[in-house]
Amino acid sequence: MRRYNGRSQILVTGGAGFLGSHLCERLLQDGHEVLCVDNFFTGARRNIEHLLDHPRFDLVRHDVTQPLVVEVDEIYNLACPASPVHYQHNPVQTIKTSVHGAINVLNLAQHCGARVFQASTSEVYGDPDIHPQPESYWGRVNPVGVRSCYDEGKRCAETLFLDYHRQYGVDVRVARIFNTYGPRMHPNDGRVVSNFIVQALRGDDITIYGKGEQTRSFCFVDDLVEGFVRFMQKDGPLPGPINLGNPREFTMLQLAEQVINLTNSASKIVFRPLPQDDPKQRQPDIRHAREMLDWQPTVELKEGLARTITWFDAMLKAGH
Ligand code: NAD
Ligand code: UDP
Repeated sequence: MRRYNGRSQILVTGGAGFLGSHLCERLLQDGHEVLCVDNFFTGARRNIEHLLDHPRFDLVRHDVTQPLVVEVDEIYNLACPASPVHYQHNPVQTIKTSVHGAINVLNLAQHCGARVFQASTSEVYGDPDIHPQPESYWGRVNPVGVRSCYDEGKRCAETLFLDYHRQYGVDVRVARIFNTYGPRMHPNDGRVVSNFIVQALRGDDITIYGKGEQTRSFCFVDDLVEGFVRFMQKDGPLPGPINLGNPREFTMLQLAEQVINLTNSASKIVFRPLPQDDPKQRQPDIRHAREMLDWQPTVELKEGLARTITWFDAMLKAGH
């Protein structure tokens, strides 16, 4: 369904969050009309403040666990707290956001005939025993641990997306997002990139959990958003799931050293206990994204960190 003016009406749930705000910005740049829906649990008005006066941008405060009736052509479902600190704060609400939220956006997509994107996660692989992780890997997830509200909620959402596709023919796109960083990350949500940068800029100790030998692969936000848009623009049924992330893998010790060097910080590295169920390694196999979407990340960690540090530095100096 296209609007009379030829523009797509696009709903972004979780649009006031870190990834969502960058996506809203990009969709507006591409000429679309954007409806941002958010309950501001972890999102912030300041993330989208610069968009509020835009003639093609609307904001609705709404919780996706409740149904929403609007007319749209495309939906990006990003609503869900993403950092362990946030999603463990109210685990029942977290799983409801993934599961009820998925049902609500899928019903809406079915009603409107809209294509619908799901922001799934590498966490569906749990603490993986296959490395790197291809989409065909079923994962190794603890169903009753402290991370389960997020991991199992996202797994159930994937099931719902694929079942709405098979049963009702809804045009779904499921992306499994690996660790992503960039400007507008929350300064105190406990994620490693924001923690290390804030600690380095303040001259505080850099807290490495465990021995720092665990690995993650960090994707810069602009690269990720490009992947989202390519996935949604690709014609034909393409439900996925597709991994989106940067395959360059680093240990947390290497990350800490990079941040210390880039900030010229006098911070010292200290070691703290490893959280429960913390995955030891994570690296996306992005062969499918390369082949099907002609997509791969282009921003090196050093460059992306420098851009992120500049943003955090300005934010801290502004007293946030
Ligand atoms: P974020 O916390 O910055 O953004 C999530 C947004 O969803 C926030 O604005 C929050 O207020 C909103 N939200 C939460 N619950 C809601 C509800 N019930 N109703 C309406 N809005 C709600 O996190 P993010 O990093 O931008 O992540 C966005 C999405 O991408 C999430 O679904 C997350 O699971 C997924 N993801 C992110 C990463 C990453 O590295 N950032 C990795 C994998 C998956
Ligand atoms: N981590 C760390 N120090 C911190 C915050 C996190 O060493 O101050 C570690 C954490 O234990 C994990 C990795 O960094 O092994 C990535 O953590 P994050 O919460 O950013 O993402 P996730 O675990 O969800 O991949």
